[in-house]
Formats: sequence, structure tokens, C-alpha cells
Amino acid sequence: MKILVANLGSTSFKYRLFEMNGEKLLARGGVERIGAPTSPCFVQLGECKEEAQVKAPDHAAAVRLCLEQLTSRGCLKDASELAAIGFKAVHAKGVTGAQRVDERVLAAMEAYADVAPAHNPPYIKTMRLLAEKLPSIPLVAAFETGFHETIAPAEKNYAIPVEWIAQHGIKRWGFHGASHRFIAGRTAELLGNAKARIISCHLGGSSSLCAIRDGKSAANSLGMSPQSGLPHNNRVGDFDPFALPVLLRETGKSLEQLLDDLANRSGLLGLSGKNDMRDIEEGSARGDSGCRLAMEVFTASIRHYLGAYLLLLGGADAIVFTGGIGENSRSLRREVCQGLDWFGITLDEKKNETAQGEVAIHAPSSRVQLWIMPTNEEIVVARQARDLLAG
Ligand code: ADP
Repeated sequence: MKILVANLGSTSFKYRLFEMNGEKLLARGGVERIGAPTSPCFVQLGECKEEAQVKAPDHAAAVRLCLEQLTSRGCLKDASELAAIGFKAVHAKGVTGAQRVDERVLAAMEAYADVAPAHNPPYIKTMRLLAEKLPSIPLVAAFETGFHETIAPAEKNYAIPVEWIAQHGIKRWGFHGASHRFIAGRTAELLGNAKARIISCHLGGSSSLCAIRDGKSAANSLGMSPQSGLPHNNRVGDFDPFALPVLLRETGKSLEQLLDDLANRSGLLGLSGKNDMRDIEEGSARGDSGCRLAMEVFTASIRHYLGAYLLLLGGADAIVFTGGIGENSRSLRREVCQGLDWFGITLDEKKNETAQGEVAIHAPSSRVQLWIMPTNEEIVVARQARDLLAG
């Protein structure tokens, strides 16, 4: 069974193609700048990567083109060999887990387009286009909230008028489910302990911590929307809603404009003027005060949730760093782990400096194991699509 997992941006389509028998990655590729007169495109089989410029007026054209490339390279006999296209979907009103994409699911995603403004609109648009233009290929949405259905009410709920929970679904849904699910499984495997207490730190363009017990999510720093929890590259993170009336009065902006600022011009970008952690680290090392503040606020927020999850789990067997920042930023990992010996958390500074790929970075004396681990959200989505199709 072959499954294509799609990763969508508003003008990009990236994919991985899996043979689910043996979970083998057959190919990866994608198209960027969709809608431009010409679009750069790549396809990679093993180490062999080919690049080209193509014409891709919309996402359906980009997908069709990629399917042709896969067919001509023998990865697929033809498009009908594809059992499904899986999507790492974010949020939908009243819908979670893995779902066949149909009108009910699309309408539920549309209902939350303003709750997940960076994610839902491009996914809805592309799914509709694919359903129309490639109707024979089943589309499966694996919602990021699905892994967090196991979170207990004490961690799941805001203290709000209780009817808002049932009537309007206002709660900490949690996101990054595919990544945290992967980290939960892989860490348990490495530790040889299915009951391991794990704190998964997914730090990237968007970031969250997840407390994991017995392979299940016990808490996630993301709440009702992907704008909550830790600061993200350009999204705000936790924020007091009562700052809004002050801003409405004093800036003269509308609520929509302020929400747009919070979703697109806040987070690390808001504090530092930069939204790439490499630039922020470099600025901070040069003494730029905005970059330093962004690093400090980000680190403090990670440690805030880390502390909370150590209490929730009664300690931890492993803390795992993943995502572009978690895997690559030595200085961030060092700052997060500083002064935590009392908790049994001791980083090996030397390993932290040289580590790459999946590797442990704790000192021999550390009671808690510290790991860097590349995540694999795509294989999680492919497995969910396979399981859904199998009924
Ligand atoms: P997304 O959440 O969009 O999938 P990624 O997980 O790829 O994002 O993470 C992107 C972030 O990773 C960016 O902020 C980028 O600066 C950061 N990053 C990538 N490489 C490094 C590096 N070598 N050092 C520090 N940060 C890095």
C-alpha cells in the first residue's frame, strides 16, 4: 500500500511517498511558489535529488505534476496505485483524529479558519481542489488534536463559564500531535519502557511541550488555538485577553487587525524583528537587546512548562528536543537545562555541542535522560491514514 503525505503552505506543496509494507520512504519532493509564472520543483529518491522549474498554477496542478514525476521514475505504476493522500491537518470544530475528507470535515475546518488562520485556509483550499480534480484518490486528514484526547479534564479545561466547554468547544485542544506521538513511540522504544514519563519539546517555527505518560498525552502547552503556549516564530503564545481592550483603545486598531498582529507579527519576530532562530542567536551574541529578550522569553516559557510537566508526571525518564530549533540550537538547549541538577537533569556540555541526529546528550550522572531526536510527523500521518482505510 502506497500513501503520499502532503505538507501544505499557501504557495507550496511538499510530500513524502511511503510504501507502508515495511514503512519504506520511496521518495520525497515538492513544488514551491505555486501560482508564479514558473515554480521550482524537486524530487528525491534516496540520495539522488533532481531539481527543475515547472508550471504549477495551483496546488492541484502541483500535485498532478509530482504524481507524474513519481510515475515516470517507477515509484508509482500510475496515480491510481496511491491508496490515499494524507494531510497533517490542524483544527476543525467538533472533529478530531483521522478522518476521510468530505464536506462535513471541510465545513468543520472552515468553521475554525479564524482559530487556525495560518493553517486551515490553505488546507481547505487544496483539499477542495484535489477532491474535485483527482476524485479517485481518497484524502485523509489526521488532525493534530487527536493525540491529545487522552488529556485529563484538570489539564484540558480553562476556568470559564462551564457551558462554554460543551456548547462552544472552548478548551485546551493541544496540537503538534503527530510529532509528539512519534517522539512518544520512539523514546519508549529507545528506553525499552512503554510506561516511560517523557517530556517532548517540539521547538521549531511553532513550538510546544507535551507531557507523555504510558505513551499517551497527559498535557500539551498549546491550547484552544495554535497561537497559544510557548512563543512561536511569529505567533504570540500565551497572552492575557484583557490586554485587548487596552490595545483597541490606545492603538485605534480593530479586533481583526490586533488578532492579525498576534498571529503574524508577534512571538520571536515581535520581540526581535527576526523570525529565524539562527538570526536571533546571532543577534543575541552580537548584543542586540531585542534578540536577547526573545531568547530569554522563549527559554523562560519552555522552562515554565518543563517545570509544570515534571510536577504533573512526578519526574521524567526522558526529555526530548525535536523540531528545527530543538535539534539544532545548542545554546537554547544549554539555557533550558541550566541549573536543573536538583531535578536530576544534567546536560553533557560536550555532547550538546557536537550532537547531531538521534543522540543522547545527558551526563552519566543525570537521572533524567536528555535526547535530541528528529521527529517524523509524515510517517505518523501515513500510519493513521492506513489504519483508517483498513477500518
Ligand atoms: P516548522 O515548525 O515550520 O516545521 P522547523 O521545525 O523546521 O519549523 O523549525 C524551523 C526553525 O528551526 C527556524 O526558526 C530555524 O531558525 C530553526 N533552525 C534551523 N536550523 C537551526 C540551527 N542550525 N540553529 C538554530 N536554529 C535553527
